Order: sequence, then structure tokens, then C-alpha cells
Amino acid sequence: MKGCKNWILGLTGGIGTGKSTVSNFFRSYGCTVINSDTVARMVVAPGTPGLAEVVKAFGVSVTENGRGLSLDRRALRELVFSDAASLERLNRIMYPLIMAEMKKQILAASGVYTVVEAPLLFEYGVESLTDRILCMVSDTETQIQRTMERDHCSRDIARSIVEKQMPQDERMRRSHDIIRSNMPRPEDLEPVIKKLHLKYLDIIAGISGNAPSGQS
Ligand code: ADP
Repeated sequence: MKGCKNWILGLTGGIGTGKSTVSNFFRSYGCTVINSDTVARMVVAPGTPGLAEVVKAFGVSVTENGRGLSLDRRALRELVFSDAASLERLNRIMYPLIMAEMKKQILAASGVYTVVEAPLLFEYGVESLTDRILCMVSDTETQIQRTMERDHCSRDIARSIVEKQMPQDERMRRSHDIIRSNMPRPEDLEPVIKKLHLKYLDIIAGISGNAPSGQS
């Protein structure tokens, strides 16, 4: 995937750090945005071989009303988060399906470049598809507050999600660009992202031997 024709930016960060907000800015600049959570849902949608594989592994009890036609996400989540072996088994099924679908979407992308938004970018090896990685970071309390407000969940749930994720230091160490989304309003991120976007266009122009984009 590497090279200028399909230049891929990986966008990662913990929950509530502003990934979706930033993806929307990239979309408005003409980038194709591929979201790993959306892809993960697609590959086990009704009628897919992915759903059949999951049902074969875990039985119809992880489907809506036990009918085997569509996934009951809550039942599956409860099963895999109470049993490490089941989680590993699910990941073994999901990982190749997600990677194959992502590669397909990357090849079909028509934007100025492609942004792959993936909270589990490093954990799932999506890193190998990217040319550069942008990591969003926030302090833990901000992450918890934003998650509680956005998802209407309790502090305990928000904190436990944050604590189960990869430590922020590790993500930062493995990324090329780091944005601290600690400004008061989401729209304050826009000029910061615009500047990065122009930098990425220059990098792409350098790879393809074109003139730089200019910093207008
Ligand atoms: P993620 O996709 O990383 O989970 P989101 O982009 O959905 O995070 O942001 C979580 C919530 O925090 C959203 O409601 C969003 O509007 C808000 N938010 C994001 N960035 C900021 C910011 N810089 N300042 C204030 N609120 C923000």
C-alpha cells in the first residue's frame, strides 16, 4: 500500500480524544475516510460469510432472538469480555476480514489521500497499511468527561474503557504526529488539522515529484 498513489494516513487515539471530529475535517478537505469500526460492522452484517463464521464459532445465542440472521452485539460483547479465549477466537476471525475489507476500500478510494481512522490501529496491525500515523491525545479526565457526555454512560464505564486501552505514551511513541485535543471547543482543532493536511499534501507532492502545495 505504501507510495504516493495510495497515500494512507492512520488516525488513532483513545476514546474521546477527537478522532471522529478530526476525520470530519479531513473529509471536508477531500480525503477518503475509512473507519475501522464501520468496517468491523460491515464484515459481519446479515448475509455475510463473516457472520456465518461467527455463528459457527459461538452459536446462535450471539444473534438477535437466536435466529442466526443478524448479530446481537451486546450478547457477543458480554461473551467475549468475560472469557479471554473467546475474545482471542473472535479476533482471529475478525482480523483477516477487517484487513481484507480495508484493503479493498483503500484500493477503491478516490480522495486526495486516504485516512484510516482506527482506535486499535496498533493492536490490530493496521499500522502496516499506513504511510504515516497521527495520534490524538487528551488527558484522562477529559477523555472520561467527553465519553460520558457523548455516550450518556457512567463515569465508571467511561473510566474502565479508557483504562483498558493501550497506554497513551505507547501510542505516541509509535506515531509520527501528535495532536493534543485539549482546546475548549472541537472547532478549535480545525486550524491545527488544516496545517497538518497541507503538510501531508507537501509530503505526497515530494513523493510523486510534483511541486509543493503552497501554504495558503
Ligand atoms: P473519538 O472519536 O476519539 O472517540 P470524538 O471526536 O467523538 O472522539 O469526540 C468525543 C466528544 O468530544 C465529541 O462529543 C466531540 O464533540 C467532543 N470533542 C472532540 N474534540 C474536542 C475538543 N477539542 N474540545 C472539546 N470537545 C471536543
